[in-house]
Formats: sequence, C-alpha cells, structure tokens
Amino acid sequence: MPLDFLKRRGNQDDEAAPAATPPASSVLPEEIVAQEYQLKLYFAGKSSEGVRMKAGPSAMNELPSMLVGLAKSEIEVVEPLPIEYSEATPTIVRPSEAMQWLNAHHVHSPITRHALVVLESIDAIDLAFDTFVCSMLDGETDTSGYPEYNAIVGGVASHWDEATGDMICRAVVGWGGRGVRGDTDRIGAKLLAGILTNVLANQYAMGLTAVERPMPAAGRGGLVCAHCGFASAHERAFYCPKCGMRLLRG
Ligand SMILES: [Zn+2]
Repeated sequence: MPLDFLKRRGNQDDEAAPAATPPASSVLPEEIVAQEYQLKLYFAGKSSEGVRMKAGPSAMNELPSMLVGLAKSEIEVVEPLPIEYSEATPTIVRPSEAMQWLNAHHVHSPITRHALVVLESIDAIDLAFDTFVCSMLDGETDTSGYPEYNAIVGGVASHWDEATGDMICRAVVGWGGRGVRGDTDRIGAKLLAGILTNVLANQYAMGLTAVERPMPAAGRGGLVCAHCGFASAHERAFYCPKCGMRLLRG
C-alpha cells in the first residue's frame, strides 16, 4: 500500500519524492488518519407457544411430518446433545467449545448448520434438551449451499415437560448474517404461523401450552437413561431428552 496517507498536509515537495524516503518525524500529528473497519452481524428469530403432545415415541416420529408443505430442502432431525458435547458452542474463538460443536454438527447439511448457528446464538433453541427438526423455509442459498442472510430457516423444536413428561413442540424460525431486509420479519412471522398450524393439526396434539424450559434440579447431573442409554448433556434433565422416559437416580 502506498504511504501517501502518512504524508503531512501541505508538504507538496513530497509528491515528487520516492516512497523510500518517508518523513523522519516521530511526532504525533494533530490529526491522525484512521481507516475504519466494521462488520455488523444480524441474527433474529421467532418461537411460538408450545403445543402439548401425547407422550410416546410415536409422537417423536411425527416431528418431520410437521414441516411437510413448508420445507424447501431436506428435513433434518437434530437430536439433543450427549454429555461429551455439553459445552458445544458455535463460537470459534473458544476452541474447545467450537471443536465440540463441530464434532457434534459437521454431519448436518449447510442449511441445518446455519440454522443452529443462528438459533443457538440468539438462544431460541437449546440442544441440551431440545430435539430440532429443521429445513430451509424461504429464500436462497449461496453457491456453497449456505443460506443467504435473508433466507429463513427453522422448523419444530420439542422437549419433554419436566412436570408431566409430555412432549412440548414449538415452531421456531430464524435468519440472519451480513445484512438485514425489511420484509424478512413479516415472512418469518407467516412461516411461524404455518408451522404452528401444522403442529396443532397433528393427531397427537392436545392444544397450546406455555413453554417452560426445563429448570435446574440440583444433583441430577450426569444421569444415564436406563431406557435408551443416552447420557444427557443437560445437568437438569428430569426426563431423558432423547427418548422422553423418566430418568432414574443411579
Ligand atoms: Zn432415554
């Protein structure tokens, strides 16, 4: 890069001088010239009320069908994370957490990984206890297959209610990246309603309910499910995040 910006103003003689002879002064000029750098990332999303479902593994198998008619790509199921991924976070400057996250999610499609980055970053889903069924819902991908900033991704997140053991499903959508567009929020709201309609139309749906995330229960960490062998990453889990059966004290 040329050193023109280091030149003192008004010293026109320097114009002819070669760049190899910069001014020798080390005095701080009255006005320093700074080049500005900036990146604004914008992530946003929406989550609906919950829908209580009749418990049971059959209800779990219904999740992908709730995106039929709305999905614009393959429907992928992301299961709750086991204990070895309990610190997985999509934050590259924290290598241990980032490695866990990559190890847990490198198998998924670019669309699902993008959805997880957006929705985990804004805390709309928590894979410690959520099962997440995901697809592209609106917009385009780039040439590498990753959704554009205004594309909308999402689907259904489900977890097991700590009080009753019922499965609670909610619609979740998200979008974002290096930019924002005015109509994305409106399209996102419409898609959220569409997914919620599908969830409510499911044969196991029992109606709307408030979503309460699983709360801490001291001393229950590290339990292994006696039914399916899943070791939960969620230290508070009362019900197995994977199969929904009640966890027993070892
Ligand atoms: Zn289990």
